[in-house]
Amino acid sequence: MSILKVCRLGHPVLRMEAKRVSPKALATPEIQTLIDNMMETMVEYYGVGLAAPQIHESLSLAVIESHGTRGEIPMTVLVNPEVTVLDEEFIEDWEGCLSIPDFRGRVPRYRKLRVDALDRRGRKIQITAEGFFARVIQHEFDHLMGKVYLDRMRDFTTLSHLAEFQKYWLPPEPEAAEDKDEK
Ligand SMILES: [Zn+2]
Repeated sequence: MSILKVCRLGHPVLRMEAKRVSPKALATPEIQTLIDNMMETMVEYYGVGLAAPQIHESLSLAVIESHGTRGEIPMTVLVNPEVTVLDEEFIEDWEGCLSIPDFRGRVPRYRKLRVDALDRRGRKIQITAEGFFARVIQHEFDHLMGKVYLDRMRDFTTLSHLAEFQKYWLPPEPEAAEDKDEK
């Protein structure tokens, strides 16, 4: 497996709508290896999610996993995800992004949603998610639509560099001070 290079904001691939992956393409060793490499890359950089456009592949494919303080999410592969909002209430919370390194900002996201997708074997899956999991899904789904979290912020008054975020915004808990999940 390999650690992949993550592209940063400004790279045009982050602003493109990702192409759907056909079941035939999904079954190829190339795409299966790509999924393995995305998982390894996400873990290497302490991400809780990674979408294929972030590693220069404009494909509708994302991986998500979290074992942090904000929520437990098992390793999840979403291929061609479609999101249906189940609760239009917005909840605002902090987000970061591996493609926008060393920044944090507060982003409103829908509280609850359903995602219909294929798993890495091409089987149909349906996941109902709320809270942090729903937030991560919306962040990754946005990447597949050519959007980043900055586009979803109400304004930029909370946008902070990581060191200032930790100094001025985080509650003084040792555990939280090490919180560095990015997507
Ligand atoms: Zn991101």
